[in-house]
Amino acid sequence: MSYRPFVVPRNIYYGAGALEALNNVPGKRALIVTDPGVTSLGIVDRLKRILQARKTEVTVFDKVEPDPSGETVWSIYSLARDFKPDLFIGLGGGSSMDAGKGGWALYENPDLAGMSIAEVKQELPSRQLHKKAKYVAIPTTSGTGSEVTRVAVITDHNFDPHLKIAWVSVEMVPDVAIIDPELASSMPPSVTANTGFDALVHAVESYVLSDPSDIVDSLDIGAAKLVLEWLPEAVANGANMRAREKMHVAALEAGMAFGNGALWVVHVTAHELGSSFRMPHGLTCALMLVPSLAFLYPSHKARLVKLASELGIGGGDDKARVNNLLDSIDEFKLKVQIPVSIKAAGLEESVYQGRIQQIIDRSVEQTNGRVASAPGLFPVTEEQVRELFAHAWNGTRAELK
Ligand code: NAD
Repeated sequence: MSYRPFVVPRNIYYGAGALEALNNVPGKRALIVTDPGVTSLGIVDRLKRILQARKTEVTVFDKVEPDPSGETVWSIYSLARDFKPDLFIGLGGGSSMDAGKGGWALYENPDLAGMSIAEVKQELPSRQLHKKAKYVAIPTTSGTGSEVTRVAVITDHNFDPHLKIAWVSVEMVPDVAIIDPELASSMPPSVTANTGFDALVHAVESYVLSDPSDIVDSLDIGAAKLVLEWLPEAVANGANMRAREKMHVAALEAGMAFGNGALWVVHVTAHELGSSFRMPHGLTCALMLVPSLAFLYPSHKARLVKLASELGIGGGDDKARVNNLLDSIDEFKLKVQIPVSIKAAGLEESVYQGRIQQIIDRSVEQTNGRVASAPGLFPVTEEQVRELFAHAWNGTRAELK
């Protein structure tokens, strides 16, 4: 017998109009963390109205940038130190929710603010949060799942190219997640596609790599099916609230799954690609997925075959079934207007080649640094990672062996 934990927010409110559930969360002083785009949509004003109607004092930090930097997280901490909130609200995409989590972690443990991003990463797992403030996560994109995960991805600008560092602690799981699809309905098609693909990658990568589990597996498969069925409609017709609702739940389910499961080579390489060329996170995950799954075929064949069969994909034998799965993912990219290769994403080849060695070196280091994070992972070589990126550049994949 063996057992393992499954950790998610204590309260998850979902469905159209769920924003009103904020009224169920007590707090006298709320700090809203968001980005300028979300503010311009009027969503912050809606939140303020709800909070101020019940006499909660509100202050807003709305300068979060995509892939939030340490500077941003420390600015949020400084604001919190002065304002002393008992409620932190991360409102927006993964960037705002993560920046909010980071600022909250420092506010709860001010001595961490004297450390570097890398030092906080080491120290955070032994620290308590939730003592001074509760954390409410309200996603306005349908993808990252940060609303339910123990992760905050902070980008360290002291490195060139910038380095994405994941702060991970079970204490960083938000207290409350509010999953209101109306907030996601303003996403333009490209943001819908990129973030929606992020949810698919979470579901697929987590299914293939996590230690098999009835809970995690069923969330992964449920999320993948929702994305495959509803993302094309959400991209083509953003006003379709049923599609928006399904995608918001898909992101939530995939977040619950990978937050309690494993991600590895797809995400590590995607992070390096994204931080080197400032590409959206969901897009880089989409670009690395198929070559990475082909790379994982020898070590994770049984899970890939089972994934294909769970998604209703057939084939004469195991290899054919997985080949069909990978083909169908490439076809799905086209359906939602995601490029099939890094080249097709419009990156100049000379710019790409100028950085690729550095990207490979860091990917090897980061991938090998995470081999202990799940069973069945193994050290990778520079040659293997070089081949992975060559396939991702061309939109090809290794032959399954
Ligand atoms: P994002 O938060 O960077 O937002 C992208 C853009 O979408 C922004 O310009 C924003 O203003 C806009 N936007 C947000 N909501 C909108 C809406 N409703 N209508 C119109 N525009 C809207 O994008 P993201 O993909 O949600 O988050 C990516 C970040 O999340 C990356 O830094 C990634 O590393 C991180 N991430 C974190 C986790 C986690 O578990 N913590 C998981 C996956 C990714």
